[in-house]
Order: sequence, then structure tokens, then C-alpha cells
Amino acid sequence: MDMKRLKCSPVTGQGSDNLAGIGRVMRPKFKAIDNFMKEHKRLPQVGFVSLGCPKATSDSEQILTRLRAEGYLISGSYQDADLVVVNTCGFIDSAVEESLDAIGEALAENGKVIVTGCLGAKGDVVQQAHPRVLAVTGPHATDEVMAAVHQHLPKPHDPYTDLVPAQGIRLTPKHYAYVKISEGCNHSCTFCIIPSLRGDLVSRPVGDVMQEARHLVDAGVKELLVISQDTSAYGVDVKYRTGFWGGRPLRTRMTELAAALGDLGVWVRLHYVYPYPHVDEVIPLMAEGKILPYLDIPFQHANPRILKLMKRPGNSDNVLARIRQWREICPELTLRSTFIVGFPGETEAEFEELLDFLKEAQLDRVGAFAYSPVEGAAANELPDPVPPEVQQERLERLMLLQEQISEERLRRRIGQTITVLVDEVDEEGAVARSSADAPEIDGLVYIEDGQHLKVGDIVDVRVTDSDAHDLWAERVK
Ligand code: SF4
Repeated sequence: MDMKRLKCSPVTGQGSDNLAGIGRVMRPKFKAIDNFMKEHKRLPQVGFVSLGCPKATSDSEQILTRLRAEGYLISGSYQDADLVVVNTCGFIDSAVEESLDAIGEALAENGKVIVTGCLGAKGDVVQQAHPRVLAVTGPHATDEVMAAVHQHLPKPHDPYTDLVPAQGIRLTPKHYAYVKISEGCNHSCTFCIIPSLRGDLVSRPVGDVMQEARHLVDAGVKELLVISQDTSAYGVDVKYRTGFWGGRPLRTRMTELAAALGDLGVWVRLHYVYPYPHVDEVIPLMAEGKILPYLDIPFQHANPRILKLMKRPGNSDNVLARIRQWREICPELTLRSTFIVGFPGETEAEFEELLDFLKEAQLDRVGAFAYSPVEGAAANELPDPVPPEVQQERLERLMLLQEQISEERLRRRIGQTITVLVDEVDEEGAVARSSADAPEIDGLVYIEDGQHLKVGDIVDVRVTDSDAHDLWAERVK
């Protein structure tokens, strides 16, 4: 190949050509910088073919800007490029043809090609013509393109220029990490002001979430804790858009994300799962051992009138039937939930209905709070507030009942062999957690002969004792 020049829109030029003359051959202005960098270190290089109208040019500029900001070089030839991005046009037949030809050329000359732009939004035209492409996105998809680039051409960590490690700065111990998948919430629970503070749901691109998880696992993390305001709503805001991970399409959706995270080979724990019907889909993943059999699902109450006043879904009979079904599919399942007692207007009979629900549901972990009138919450306007002393008395009754349930459920584990992740080790032994225990909020497993274990070890232990919260165990030799 005679050093084929890539068709690249100038980063600071006049923009791309129109339909009649797509694909001008250009070199970006940072060539001198690139040459300097190339001489000093082998940095990843991306070739870029930009086709289409000025809107496509603008998309290309955004992607090129992100690439350069992250330290990638822009290559002027297929030979030097480690990977090529082709921004396509899909407006008229001749533009489609030219775009498909450009993809074919990039595949033939380089082999690693990511396709973006309008043609990518036209069903699976690109995959049918060129099944070898690494990823395809629609137009205006900088985040998805960058996620695909990261996946196939990771940005090398340079300790002289990167002030933070690839996995970012973490406040958690090295062996577990929180992965936030979205921000905000589309619900309007009357006791909560989160939507007014954090806005509507905004889901992170699934490729970005997976890339972050990959970096964490590469850095030694053994447990990923998936968090958000509403984990089961993941992707609703982007209509469950298809992103890319591992060269394959991956939907922006809780079940698909959970399965993909499960493939990383570490513990994956789901938090803050709102009780939508599609939550049922993740239970088989738990039964298969892909993700931890643990569901943190705040039910908040059991009485239908109170749930309606809270603007929460739920009918306790349905919930109980679902819990039974979940346990049939995955007997190991640990259920954690939270409840509010003393919500405005809650009668003694309605509170007792909640106690009856807890007796029937036999949840493993329960957090409970007396209703507190957070400034700005709609529930503050409801009539018949429950006096604080009554709230307190109900809270104590609920916690006493749950303590008995929890104690009984943990007692049944005595004699069982369970797998635990070690959090701390000292001369008295090790402190660990099982799949039933999220860090900071659930119980612990004390291993009295665990002095020689290391933080982050995953080991089997035999349970020897229990109380209402924690277990004691010995190593399985
Ligand atoms: S309680 Fe949770 S689901 Fe309800 S509005 Fe607040 S953040 Fe959203």
C-alpha cells in the first residue's frame, strides 16, 4: 500500500465535505505533536475516516477531540493506525455505497474498524455487509465510540502524565468497589427528594460501565457493587439503547449488564433494585452463579393504601408470590429490603399488616426507618402525621420481629460450608463476608482460624455459630 492517506476532517478546518464530495484527505494540525510523541513512546494511534454532512463532521470533531484529550494519536495512514474509526453517511444510496466501500477499505488495509454515524443507525446494514467490524454506533455517539475504542485499544497508563490510575481514585478497600451505573430517578416517591436534587434518570453508556468494571477487575477488585438510585431502571432513559462491549452489541439494560459483569469472573452484587416486574429476569443469573444471589430491593411498606400514598408500586400478595418464586429458582437468594414506619396516616392495623408481611416474607436483611419529614417531600403535606413516640414504638416492634427472623435464618446456616471474601486479617483471625453480606450494611463472618488468610482472599469456611446479624466459622481444610 502506498501509505494510503486516511480521509480525515480537519480538527480546526472548514468542516467536512457535503454529500457530493465526502471524504477529503486531510491531516490534522497536531501532526508535529504526534511525531514528537511517536518518537518518544509508542502511543496508541487511531485512524479516522470522516464522511458525510457538517453534522457528521461535528461528530467527528468531538470524537477526535476526546481521542486526543485521552492521549491517543491520530494516524494519517492505515499502516500506522492500531484501529480505524469510520464515520459514515447514510442519506442517499450513493452515500451508503461510499460509506460501505470506506469500511471495506479500512478492513482490508487495517483490519480493526469501528463504525459510527448515520449508516450505523440503519438497522444492521453495516454488520450484514461487513461482519468483521468491531462495533457499530449511530450518529452523535461519542461516548459509545470512545467505549469501543477503549475496549479494543486501551489507553496506556503513563505514570508521568496520568495523575490517576486507570481504575480511578477509590475510597473503598482494594478488593471491592462501587460501580455507579446511572444518576437521578424518574419516580416521585412522596417521601423522597432525590429526583429534585439529582434530576431525572441518566444512564451511563453500557460500554463505559463495562470498561470501568474491567479496569477495576484488572486492578485486583474481587467484588463489584452495582449502585444507582434505581438500578432496575437502567437504560429506560435511552430506550435500552444498544451499546458495545467485547466487540458485541450489549443493551443498556440491567439484566444484560448484570450478565456481562458476571462474565468478568468476580462477585457482582446488585443494590437499589426497584421492584419492577423485569427484576424476575436476574434471578436465573443468580441461580447460575453468574452474579451473587443477593437482591437489595426496597419495598418500603406492605399495605396497599400506604404504598399508594408513597407513590410506590406493590401489592403485598404479588410481592409474596414473587418472593416464593424467586426462592424456588434460587434457594440461595438473600433478600435485603428497607421499610418506613409511621408514614403519615399509617394506622395500627396498617402497621400490623406490614408485620404480617415480614413474618410471611422471611427477609434476610431489613433496614427500617421512622418516617422523617424531609424538607420539600410531598408526603409532608399528607394529613394525620404519626406522633414520634408511636413511630418509635412501631420501629422497635418491627426491628424486634426482624431480629427474631434474622436470628432463625442465620441459625440454619450452622454446619453449612459457605464461600466468603476476606475483608480484614489480624492476630485474632479474619473478618469476611459471604454472598449474603454487602459491605458496611449487612453482617460479617468471623473466621477464628483465619490468621493466615489475606485481605481479598475468597475461601470456603464451615459455619460454627451465629447470632441475629453475624456468623462464626472455621476454615475448610
Ligand atoms: S425513593 Fe428511590 S425510587 Fe423513589 S424517588 Fe427516591 S430515589 Fe427514586
